[in-house]
Amino acid sequence: MDTTQHDVIVIGAGFAGIYAIHKYRDQMGLDVVCFDAAEDVGGTWYWNRYPGARVDIESVHYSFSFDPELQQEWHWTEKFAAQPEILRYLNHCADRYDVRRSVRFGTRVVEVTWDEQNDHWRVTTDKGDVVTARYFVSGAGTLSVPKTPDFPGVEDFAGQTLLTGNWREDVDLAGKRVGIIGVGSSGIQAISEISKVADALYVFQRTPNYATPIANYPTDPAEEAADKARYAELREASRNHFLGVPYSDVQPSALAVSAEERREVFEDRFKKGGFRFFIDSFGDILFSQEANDTAAEYVRESIRKRVQDPRTADLLCPTDYPYGTKRPPLEIDYYEAYNRESTHLVDVKANPIQRVIPQGVRLADGTEVELDVLILATGFDACTGPLLAMNITGRGGVRLADEWADGPQTYLGLTMAGFPNLFAITGPQSPSVLYNMPLAIEDHVDFIGDSIQYMRERGLTVMEATAQAQDQWVYETNALADMTLLPDSASTWYMGANIPGKPRRVLVYVGGAPRYRSICDNVQRNDYRGFAFATSTAEVETATPSPALDPALAAIVEILRGQGFTGFEDAGVEGSRAAVESFTAMQAPRKEIGRVVDEAYGTDPEQKLRIFVPEGEGPFPVVVYVHGGGFVAGSIEVVDEPARDLASRAGVIVVAPTYRRAPEHRFPAAHDDAYAALEWTADNVAAYGGDPSRLGIGGDSAGGMLAAAAAIRARQEGPELSALLLVNPLVNPVADTPSRREYAEGYIIELADLQWFGSQYLNGPEEVTDPRLALDAADLAGLPQTLILTSEYDTLRDEAEDFATQLLGAGVETNVQRFDGMTHDAFLMSGAVPRCIEQRLAAADFLRSALVEGAQEPEVEVVTA
Ligand code: NAP
Repeated sequence: MDTTQHDVIVIGAGFAGIYAIHKYRDQMGLDVVCFDAAEDVGGTWYWNRYPGARVDIESVHYSFSFDPELQQEWHWTEKFAAQPEILRYLNHCADRYDVRRSVRFGTRVVEVTWDEQNDHWRVTTDKGDVVTARYFVSGAGTLSVPKTPDFPGVEDFAGQTLLTGNWREDVDLAGKRVGIIGVGSSGIQAISEISKVADALYVFQRTPNYATPIANYPTDPAEEAADKARYAELREASRNHFLGVPYSDVQPSALAVSAEERREVFEDRFKKGGFRFFIDSFGDILFSQEANDTAAEYVRESIRKRVQDPRTADLLCPTDYPYGTKRPPLEIDYYEAYNRESTHLVDVKANPIQRVIPQGVRLADGTEVELDVLILATGFDACTGPLLAMNITGRGGVRLADEWADGPQTYLGLTMAGFPNLFAITGPQSPSVLYNMPLAIEDHVDFIGDSIQYMRERGLTVMEATAQAQDQWVYETNALADMTLLPDSASTWYMGANIPGKPRRVLVYVGGAPRYRSICDNVQRNDYRGFAFATSTAEVETATPSPALDPALAAIVEILRGQGFTGFEDAGVEGSRAAVESFTAMQAPRKEIGRVVDEAYGTDPEQKLRIFVPEGEGPFPVVVYVHGGGFVAGSIEVVDEPARDLASRAGVIVVAPTYRRAPEHRFPAAHDDAYAALEWTADNVAAYGGDPSRLGIGGDSAGGMLAAAAAIRARQEGPELSALLLVNPLVNPVADTPSRREYAEGYIIELADLQWFGSQYLNGPEEVTDPRLALDAADLAGLPQTLILTSEYDTLRDEAEDFATQLLGAGVETNVQRFDGMTHDAFLMSGAVPRCIEQRLAAADFLRSALVEGAQEPEVEVVTA
């Protein structure tokens, strides 16, 4: 028995392990030991040697990028390399970086336990080794645990049984009667090859697949030279692409073009091959069923053209799940295999496999198919399987298997709360297979290396994701998947749906590589947001973590940074207006509602309003909703989408005015206009189906201040109001609160922005005592019932919550709801920030209860969402 101590234990010697060993051992000087159950390097490419195994991303992209010399020197013989060549490449890399001396091959990890006394991981292997290390890095892969065969009698089969996912030998199938179960990527590649040599091939198909041409060809020297000449640029473009490939021809919507144009695009992408059809044709294929239908039908047509027997063609055409919701297999002559007399397609959905018998397979109707060889191409216990197989126990004796009983819980798909210093390269809920794997792996290995370095520089020993950060990540991951058609596929492994009893949760992050990488950048740039650090396990639970900003908002902060946005003052008046206007690009599609009418309530071009009437029978209650934008920016267009959303969810008419903006019009122009729009609404809304006796007002940010000030004025001058909705409102331009100081920078609206907006609107500093601007100095008694929505990481949070206390003190029915992890303006970003829906629902519930159903009970304390 070997008992040794190391700095880092790495699992797996595939792409991930090879780079991890090189990085941590050679570049960082750490003591690294790696375990792999295989007898040599290669990972997936070691285990999957079935005939036809081949990569589905161009090899020039599906390869390491960290070593410029390697990528210049290596020559791929084909556009999409076959398994032997990729394994040769990985062997070359293993030699080049001398990784084998750090790997214990033929050794399987059977137990992994966090030792709280010594702040390290203890790993036990099937050889009886016990080794320890401060850091545990799994490079065990996503598709490395084959699904356990679920056919009774499989062990009784008298012939040879082979598993595509564990196929190491060279098997001669010539002249044999071969059966293959499964038509995923593995089955499809194998069928194409085996059909050429087998005496008879029986394909047992349950769910047909949408396979498209890979369009492979021998490397063209001119193309290779051109790629190598701009390799750095290609890698950069890859990392900025959803799938990690440098494609740039995607068009926004399959539904926005004519049928002819659509066909041209599909034909072109089919011809180009690879994932061009899937990811480089139309951007809404994975989001809109209607768009998806067009792609699915195109694939079905191609199948019907290629398969001679119409009944077989029909069976091969998928019809009951959307294209792309299973990883689209890429093929070479797959459909032509069915034109051979020796290939037989067996529909095991209609006539299921009853059991495996010694001489072959027996179907439910009693048919027996005699076989010499049975191949199981039945897939993998994807993403979670490889980690769960290691029997991992974290802090406090918590078992990963228990934590994940209802699906994976991770932060960034890389770490887990309760499992200190444990990292899963391309783990569940990371982009993994939806991001060109070698690049996804390099990003993760680098992130882990940087984290270790960060800790070493600060004398820290323990790093752990917080529960809040993890919950936010799980929410983001599930919410993004729900925006796609993925959950509509009955058996996709992306959702764990291929394994009986496995929880139905999305296993891959579907936000794309650029969004994911922005979030990771934001996490690292801000002292590892969402992580707690300590010098011992005992302290990690009480350590103060860096704020866990909602991932979607972290991505937006980084995108703004990447676009060179350095604040509203630098952007100037026009730049600020353009920046706020660009929020519309982060909104969900505008809902269809009953009616939308534009009107004017004054003679200035900015004194306009838009009336949003919901579906159904009026008269409807009415809310005037005043946009934000620091009195300088914002417009009806920015609130069009939220206004439609509120109108349809709450069943109220929303009237959204614009108003004269600063600096052209200073205080009190915007205040006067907001009130004038309210008056206009009270006088005129009946003509649009509104009931002015059930009237409310609301607004966000500076619009919240304008709404509150109008409500205060209306108390004396009318109209009578029944509801006040304030979303992240400005309460006092010179408030001095902890949230203004703590979240002064890096959270969408910065303190400097507030100051600049104030300087644009106010005529002079003396004005800030005016109770129309210093709402906290106003008499608040008699205001209508109020809901205030605040965000944890908003400079304006505290003044808004203090204002709620003042309202309550003045006897106003007031609720406050604070949204953890959120920032200013998230309310407007329904398309980009999944948790925006929580705020919308809270606002709509309030309007419905205050205006449609009558008064609600007041709540005194701050409720966190
Ligand atoms: P898969 O996509 O999960 O396909 C498994 C197949 O087995 C499905 O057709 C499934 O049918 C069938 N099956 C499973 N259990 C069955 C049962 N009890 N009775 C009948 N049929 C059964 O697995 P895979 O083909 O190994 O591919 C997995 C992933 O590996 C791919 O999606 C891809 O990411 C990766 N891969 C990539 C390549 C490449 O091109 N580079 C090649 C191979 C694999 P149902 O759909 O009805 O469940």
